[in-house]
Amino acid sequence: MTSYFSRLSLAIVFITGVLASGIASALPITKTATINIYQLCDNAGANCAATGPVGDTYFAGSTNNIWEQAGIIFNFNFVSKINSSAFLHINDSVTGDSFGDLQLTYGGWPSYTSIDLFLVQTITVDSAGHRAYGEGWLGVGGLVMGMQDIMGFNGGLGRIDTLAHEIGHNFGLQPSSLGGVDWHSTNPNNLMASGSIRSVPTTLSDISPNGLGYDQLTLAQVNYARQSSLLSNITYDTIPEPTSSALFAIALLTLGVSRYRKFG
Ligand SMILES: [Zn+2]
Repeated sequence: MTSYFSRLSLAIVFITGVLASGIASALPITKTATINIYQLCDNAGANCAATGPVGDTYFAGSTNNIWEQAGIIFNFNFVSKINSSAFLHINDSVTGDSFGDLQLTYGGWPSYTSIDLFLVQTITVDSAGHRAYGEGWLGVGGLVMGMQDIMGFNGGLGRIDTLAHEIGHNFGLQPSSLGGVDWHSTNPNNLMASGSIRSVPTTLSDISPNGLGYDQLTLAQVNYARQSSLLSNITYDTIPEPTSSALFAIALLTLGVSRYRKFG
């Protein structure tokens, strides 16, 4: 009896915890978005921005792992290198050298059907010289990643959820519109917490729903993101229906029998 009762209590605690946190469980993958990648190099085509860690190029694996919570998978499409010393280190406080100028010049602006991803060395956001790991538009497909700072994070392992976070902004995730107080969630374990407070996974096994459970999305965030025009529905190729195959086999068998009779 004691054993039965403790098991029952454990189950109730578990269910209550899931409901209270509102964490989305994994959905079937039914939506996709294309990420068009541009890699910045200097004028001579050297000193190019990094493309991510070994085994996780563009952070594609970690990004797909995070967004699986919302039933979304990304198609990573390398477009080109861009030789531009000016845009290799962007500065948002300098006219002509901002992220907006970069996407306007080389990408598709404004893009509502795909995501432009620019890999640069550094992102300076103001005249005081403050740097950012990444920047992304709210509700428009475009983001930039400062690969020098991103790859230097966590002893060289890299910040593996910056791309997923900025994509969230591209999908229109601004927690104030979802009951928050500003652009970001105040929960450090939520994907849409700002980089200054967010718990950053070290490995894929830290990502929700596994391990440490970082980079969570709430059900409200999932539902909101899935409405984005950047996404299209995945259509699956179908195999022949068993009934059709069976009928075809029967037809062949009948043909074989009639031939046998003809030559017999
Ligand atoms: Zn943000």
